[in-house]
Amino acid sequence: MAYTNLHRLFLQAYLLQRFAKEDTVLNIYRRCCEVAEVEYSDRDFTPFVGVLNETLDTLDMELRKGQAPDTGATYYALVNTNGDEIAQRATTFTANEVAYLKHVIDLIINAEDEAFEISSTLALRTVTPLQSKKDAQAFLDRLIKTQWLDDNNGLLSLSLRTLLELQQYLKTRHPDTLEDCTICMEIVTTFAERCGTENCSARLHQHCANKYLGERREGGRCPSCQEAWQGVRTGSRARRQAEVDDEDEGEEEVGEEGMGGPARKRPRRDGGEEEEVEMVDGGNVNEEEEEELPRRRKGMGRAR
Ligand SMILES: [Zn+2]
Ligand SMILES: [Zn+2]
Repeated sequence: MAYTNLHRLFLQAYLLQRFAKEDTVLNIYRRCCEVAEVEYSDRDFTPFVGVLNETLDTLDMELRKGQAPDTGATYYALVNTNGDEIAQRATTFTANEVAYLKHVIDLIINAEDEAFEISSTLALRTVTPLQSKKDAQAFLDRLIKTQWLDDNNGLLSLSLRTLLELQQYLKTRHPDTLEDCTICMEIVTTFAERCGTENCSARLHQHCANKYLGERREGGRCPSCQEAWQGVRTGSRARRQAEVDDEDEGEEEVGEEGMGGPARKRPRRDGGEEEEVEMVDGGNVNEEEEEELPRRRKGMGRAR
């Protein structure tokens, strides 16, 4: 398949959208097929994306597919693949806002015990690069509204959009903290399990584990070490779900060995005096400012 008018049409339409669920993307594709007078079949979409990405690659862009951590639903994001992705993507953010966003992302990724979630209170404790706490709150609200962050009753985590769009940035900045799912090789965050076998570093998204090991995990083996699967939930939302599941099991006693066990020992994320607040120092911000602005302009030019 070669790059055709259909690819051009689709790209024009998707540039307005940039991030959408699979059925929406397929609808756009179907409409473009009608206009281009090409017969529609959803089976053709994957090879179509392959050809599209060959051309997008020359523009340092990619149509990237990913699964929502909670539901496993498929989404597509049009992403920049080069340089400082935050600066390129967030062309409407000031340098101080970019610095603050990076800091919030760092806090989320470094949250204790692989929670991948922080309270907005913790995020607001650091307001140094922005004028005031009020500005920081308004900026956080904007990040939630524009799908940079997910908000779960005041608890902030990285959205799928951020995981897809900032994939390279996140992996480069946090090579020792972020783990890929052993099955799909995408970053693991709030909804996951790790292998309970000593010295095995396997992590699975819950939706990948459901597919690979079955919903009840009966008789499943770790895809990495091949031992019988003894999953330990990681990610705050997986652990909250485990607590609910345990309650649903009623009177039956669920021991510390149960999947929800370790979760109850975890310190609450939103209360802790013990949580350290790293300050974003001014010097740092200025350095980044100088470095990012020229690239950001370049990014804008390219995207159009
Ligand atoms: Zn996975
Ligand atoms: Zn294992």
